[in-house]
Amino acid sequence: NRVDNPYAGAKVYVNPEWSAMAAAEPGGSRIANQPTGVWLDRTAAIAGVNGGMGLRDHLDAALQQKGSGELVIQLVIYNLPGRDCAALASNGELGPNDLGRYKTEYIDPIAKILGDPKYSALRIVTTIEIDSLPNLVTNTGSRATATPQCDTMLANGNYVKGVGYALNKLGDVANVYNYIDAGHHGWIGWDDNFGASATVIRQAAGAEGATVADVHGFITNTANYSALKEQNFALGDQINGTSVRQSKWVDWNQYVDEQSFAQAFRNELVSKGFDSRIGMLIDTSRNGWGGSARPTGPGPRTSVDAYVDGGRYDRRVHLGNWCNQSGAGLGERPQASPAAGIDAYVWMKPPGESDGASKELPNDEGKGFDRMCDPTYGGNARNGNSPSGALANAPVSGHWFSAQFQELMRNAYPPL
Ligand code: BGC
Repeated sequence: NRVDNPYAGAKVYVNPEWSAMAAAEPGGSRIANQPTGVWLDRTAAIAGVNGGMGLRDHLDAALQQKGSGELVIQLVIYNLPGRDCAALASNGELGPNDLGRYKTEYIDPIAKILGDPKYSALRIVTTIEIDSLPNLVTNTGSRATATPQCDTMLANGNYVKGVGYALNKLGDVANVYNYIDAGHHGWIGWDDNFGASATVIRQAAGAEGATVADVHGFITNTANYSALKEQNFALGDQINGTSVRQSKWVDWNQYVDEQSFAQAFRNELVSKGFDSRIGMLIDTSRNGWGGSARPTGPGPRTSVDAYVDGGRYDRRVHLGNWCNQSGAGLGERPQASPAAGIDAYVWMKPPGESDGASKELPNDEGKGFDRMCDPTYGGNARNGNSPSGALANAPVSGHWFSAQFQELMRNAYPPL
């Protein structure tokens, strides 16, 4: 008895722990009542880490917030074997071959709790395994962007099997709405990646007992910074007879922003066999790009680069940059049914939580040090060998980063 769009007519759960961190910041009360994702980013998060809230605590609090209306709680399922194979900042606790532990120690206990009849009136949105499946296409084999870790996860099949298992088990709970992570336009918007990523996602939705009926939709731009709608240039624009697709920024991508990508990728997924009623979510937590650096109109028509760079809202050095991006702002506030095919804009990444440490920091979470989070780094093949654009002095991923939170509020668009 799932509804078509769980967000329609529903409130969305405000995580009390994130809310308290936000409210403790100067000016933070302006957004502390916004809903954000609850990340189950390790097995211990199910019971609660360091005396914090566990999954049942969140679900109980969600029932309180629900009252007599409808309420969505947003969970992030994020603990695959060999997690984050193309980077280091969010490496996890499970090794590449730990599929068995993923199933029995992580997914099974989550499915059991979500299946408790006590929680049957909640609309439980599960976003499945951020930044995983497209890596099997873009960061493997003969590509210059390949990593040995992603080659391993392709060869052992444990991303595909893990996602399949999660979809199957969580999909058995009647009030769970599974949304699979679908990267973002600056990752799979190129012809070489687009259809191939949809294919591998479809494969995962047929693995380990999963079927397309276990999939309610997809989420794009999770924890990323891709602008929702670029309005100062369009894919079809030409400057002196040269297409903007040939600009350094667009670099032959078929999409220049996230909403057009999400809508097109939705169609691609349907063409690969997913239900025609699937809906998309877009993470708008940090893609606002407001503040004083936001262009007020198109760039000069002197060259495609001048035109695109002068007009684009997304101020990153390169589309492949992903860690604590300098200059970013909060994006659209969470809202249901904002556009055709889009179930909701959501804040799945809790603003203020770091993407990764700027330097090597000891931790007991399995998190590595990725130089894409180091502001002095000159880049690699995955970001066109460009500067990382990361803020300095960041803590380990997931930890509170006050300076980033303040900048996100300053550069919010729409402004706060
Ligand atoms: C981290 C997780 C964290 C999540 C949300 C990820 O990058 O690896 O530990 O829960 O971000 O902040």
